[in-house]
Amino acid sequence: MSKLKLFFGGSFDPIHNGHILSAQQLVEATQAADITLLPNALSPLKQQQHCSTEHRRQLLELALADYPELLLDWREVERGGRSYTCETLQELAAQYPQQHIGFVMGLDSFNQLDHWRDWQKLCDYAHLLVIARPGYQPALSQMLKAWLADKQSHQVADLHQLARGKVYFCQLQPMPISSTQLRKQLATHSLEPELSSQLPGAVLEYIIEHKLYGA
Ligand code: ATP
Repeated sequence: MSKLKLFFGGSFDPIHNGHILSAQQLVEATQAADITLLPNALSPLKQQQHCSTEHRRQLLELALADYPELLLDWREVERGGRSYTCETLQELAAQYPQQHIGFVMGLDSFNQLDHWRDWQKLCDYAHLLVIARPGYQPALSQMLKAWLADKQSHQVADLHQLARGKVYFCQLQPMPISSTQLRKQLATHSLEPELSSQLPGAVLEYIIEHKLYGA
């Protein structure tokens, strides 16, 4: 059994197929034991949430009902306030001392990593896995490049052999879907047909029924 447990953090406002397909592909690409979506209460780098925590919770649960292999962890929502990943990874590392934690983020998030609280400590608790995102190229500050130099790994085997400390760029099929774009489409009532390929059906139905995001 693999020791690698992946955690995929985000606002999921709303969750979309880019999140779901990336999560599924990551498990396969890294041979991880499992992957858990880790919704935040409030992202330190975002101004606001666009629907209530309760609606986001419903959307995530509806979305994942069809994907029992994808797990959910509500600790950041339960903690409330701004969600600082370093605090969460410290907690996870203490909770799973026999396992290797891999924290997943898109390249857009990694480009801004040096704005995160205690970012230089993240690899004290976990590996970081970075996935490509259409429309984003690596744009790292000098400080981030220097930090990355002795951490970047080109071999997935490192994530299994070492407990923490590596940054691995994972090649997945790129998916041009974002919550920002979806919110814009929903607000302008461009409901069909692309939306149904970008969101799980039950998520789209719930959004329309509850008139979320201006739908
Ligand atoms: P927003 O547009 O509101 O910023 P988002 O679509 O980026 O939302 P988040 O919930 O912020 O979604 O994303 C959680 C994590 O998933 C982030 O690390 C983000 O980079 C990554 N991510 C989101 N969409 C994709 C995608 N289509 N492909 C790969 N990674 C993605």
